[in-house]
Amino acid sequence: MLTVEEALEIVLGHARPLAPVSLPLRESLGRVLAQDVVAAEDLPAWPNSAMDGYAVQAASTPGASRQAPVRLEVIGQIGAGQVFAGRVGPGQALKIMTGAPVPDGADSIVIVEETDGAASGSVEIYKPAAAGDHVRPRGEEVHAGELVLAPGRTLRPAEIGMLATLGHATVRVHEPPRVAILATGDELREPGEPLAPGTIRNSNAYALAAQVATAGAIPVPLGIARDTPEELLSKMRRGLEEAHVLVSSGGVSMGEFDFVADVMRALEATVHFDAVALAPGKPTTFATAGPRLLFGLPGNPVSSMVTFELFVRPALRKMAGATRLFRPRVEAELAVDFKKKPGRRTYVRCVLTAGPAGYRLTPTGTQSSGVVRSMALANALAIVEAPVDRLPAGSRLPAILLDFPEDAALPEA
Ligand code: AMP
Ligand code: MG
Repeated sequence: MLTVEEALEIVLGHARPLAPVSLPLRESLGRVLAQDVVAAEDLPAWPNSAMDGYAVQAASTPGASRQAPVRLEVIGQIGAGQVFAGRVGPGQALKIMTGAPVPDGADSIVIVEETDGAASGSVEIYKPAAAGDHVRPRGEEVHAGELVLAPGRTLRPAEIGMLATLGHATVRVHEPPRVAILATGDELREPGEPLAPGTIRNSNAYALAAQVATAGAIPVPLGIARDTPEELLSKMRRGLEEAHVLVSSGGVSMGEFDFVADVMRALEATVHFDAVALAPGKPTTFATAGPRLLFGLPGNPVSSMVTFELFVRPALRKMAGATRLFRPRVEAELAVDFKKKPGRRTYVRCVLTAGPAGYRLTPTGTQSSGVVRSMALANALAIVEAPVDRLPAGSRLPAILLDFPEDAALPEA
């Protein structure tokens, strides 16, 4: 059976970044940059005041103090957005607001708190200025020609602010993958519908659509397919027509009504694997049809979510153009004793907490793959290798941080 790493390599080998498109800056949140962002000019483009105060020549203020203020002639005032046409000479001051260009002749700003400007035509300075005080120099943020953002970077609010600062009204980003989502099973009813005996709610389609959206892709819901090859075939065909990726849940185990892999083949898709050595999620199935990717995820709600995290999400990030495909991992200490069946690598739903002694992991109760509540309580997946059957409290384990995006810097414990 393939290891998780081998299966992931196959999946990523078939995932290609989608074409770039231009988007208005306001619509680009969460998209992945498909261009170099190079500064066209120095920013700030001219030295400007970092504070409200007086623009002066530092040399005009020697020995100034509250007891012995230096009096300077005030030759005018400017606010942000204005330009002072004259020049500040020795013994002179220009009243200046934050963001206004530092006038010719001046080399420093005395903040308003260190002055008394009550008298008209002059100001008392209480503190000697040093050249450069409270001046934001030209090019402090970026210099013309500098590469500020590189392709592959996900646009967060700060990147969007940076693009706006640099004057970009539109930005080249990758088209996000469209992901068709199909639940399978005769037993499934939608939330809001009454439950007849033997039926359960379709939770996977909702969790998966949310996972798709969180990965920066676009969910295309296909509803529920009953467990017949005909219905699976028509719904999966529609998914391939409407989306770059088809994700189904259920119908991949050894049961009498598990037809998903057969239907993939009937759609002329190539099935690359139908089992991976992990728990939960062993029957995970992956196929391709030309550039389209097909994931047959297991039906158990936790298996569906965990295998989405491990295989589908990195593929969607790659298709979306991202350079970093994996969520951050940390090493953490197990807070309690833990037991599992030996044989398969196990992803354990845990709460990860950060304390003075470092990161700690506490499993979120029963690890049955049907218990979606164990996912709702978790913020991390701890990884326990195949041969292990018991781990004492205090053991150190790697853990995947579920609430952090791939671009996130690791938090400090
Ligand atoms: P299957 O792989 O189709 O045999 O499904 C495995 C288990 O997952 C069964 O208990 C199913 O009822 C359950 N299951 C399958 N699909 C869903 C779904 N969309 N939502 C919730 N549970 C599901
Ligand atoms: Mg089923």
